[in-house]
Amino acid sequence: MLSLNKIFSKLRNKHKRSDTDKQTASSSAAPLIIQRPDHTISRKQISPHALKVLYGLKDAGYEAYLVGGCVRDLLLGHEPKDFDVATDASPEQIHKLFRKSRLIGRRFKLVHVGFGKNIIEVATFRAPPEAEQHVDEQGKITRDNVFGTLEQDAWRRDFTINALYYNIRDFSLIDYTGGIADLEQGKIRLIGDVETRYREDPVRMLRALRFVGKLGLVLDEETERWIPKLADLLKAIPAARLFDESLKLYLSGNAAVTHELLCHYNVFPQLFPQTDAVLHTEQDHFPRTLLIKALENTDQRIDDDKPVTPAFLFAALLWEPVRQRWQDYIANKIPNIPALQRACAEVIAEQIKNVAVPKRFTLVTRDIWVLQTRLEQRSGKRAFRVLEHPKFRAAYDFLLLRAESGEPVTELTQWWTDFQVASEQERLTMVNSLADSSVKPKPRRRRRRKPAAKSE
Ligand code: ATP
Ligand code: MG
Repeated sequence: MLSLNKIFSKLRNKHKRSDTDKQTASSSAAPLIIQRPDHTISRKQISPHALKVLYGLKDAGYEAYLVGGCVRDLLLGHEPKDFDVATDASPEQIHKLFRKSRLIGRRFKLVHVGFGKNIIEVATFRAPPEAEQHVDEQGKITRDNVFGTLEQDAWRRDFTINALYYNIRDFSLIDYTGGIADLEQGKIRLIGDVETRYREDPVRMLRALRFVGKLGLVLDEETERWIPKLADLLKAIPAARLFDESLKLYLSGNAAVTHELLCHYNVFPQLFPQTDAVLHTEQDHFPRTLLIKALENTDQRIDDDKPVTPAFLFAALLWEPVRQRWQDYIANKIPNIPALQRACAEVIAEQIKNVAVPKRFTLVTRDIWVLQTRLEQRSGKRAFRVLEHPKFRAAYDFLLLRAESGEPVTELTQWWTDFQVASEQERLTMVNSLADSSVKPKPRRRRRRKPAAKSE
């Protein structure tokens, strides 16, 4: 990471702004403009696709800027996740200009310009919500679809550090809201009146914590103070949007620290109430340990460029509620597997009311859970069959996680670790020697087989 002091040292004296200026700055204040020689963003760091879009708009006579996370990340010396473009061209004009583009969004139209798998999101400047604001009784915006100027676009963004513009016309940076000063001080500050802005869109609270986790900056006092007070407004956010946000929170490489922040600011219970209810009341440590370990592993995998699946993440997040329900049903004389299946179905049904995890993921999550009990039943052909299951690897990884967290499954885990690397003959021996172990599955009614008979 580049030294921020170095980046901004030249600017400090040149563009001195008092704190009062920053606080009271309104849309009529002149922006801070940083010319190309005085900042570190170079075109080499910008994706060629984003440059094509920027130049395409400029050459057609429109204004065109990079904006949002990409400018912020470039100034902080991080590689941007994506590149967003803002312009004064209307969505229809943008769409006409780029052959491979499509209009998206209902509330506010955006244009996605496609370059193979890569997409550059292009948005027309938006007016502040007050211009044509429709809010519900809680202050949440229900409609805002008015185009605006660059200046207005800056003020309606969430955080000052997300409202910096890189102008393709002269490569300067434009800052209306004090984002440069906040970056310099390592601060995440919501633009405008904090309570109002969180009420307008409570997801901004999740975004604030995500950026703390991702960027290692600190929250401005006001921006921080309101989060625990308003966190329960997140309950009113559509579950589909909270699913998208939870993936960003937990699958961006900083899940462990972000999770601590979500818990600390009373946000986690709004997203995962069932987990929250058992995580802190449990006397044993392993539920919490399992989750933290799962998140650390996830972060490590992302760091190593290995694939991660939301199904595994949700399996870890919801395991303790499932495990407890499962044990309760067993205590109520429901047989093992139906008890587990029922627990899985109920916990998922409850969870998707808050965070709408799509079925393609919950099906796999459920497989991982149900396989935990199938991994115990290894006699006869069973171990061989479980090994062939498409989700065996994920289930085995999950078992490892349980063992590492202190659940009493260490021997079982070791057995499976050995079984996977054993020769066919060794595997048969391992299965046969289970006959004497404590794991005694019920006799199978159909197809009695010679080698299996030993263990029955
Ligand atoms: P990331 O690195 O995760 O992409 P980002 O800041 O670019 O971070 P995006 O979701 O890509 O996040 O949004 C792009 C920009 O749109 C933001 O930087 C911000 O200026 C604006 N924005 C996004 N969400 C909101 C919101 N809820 N309210 C106001 N402005 C928002
Ligand atoms: Mg972005």
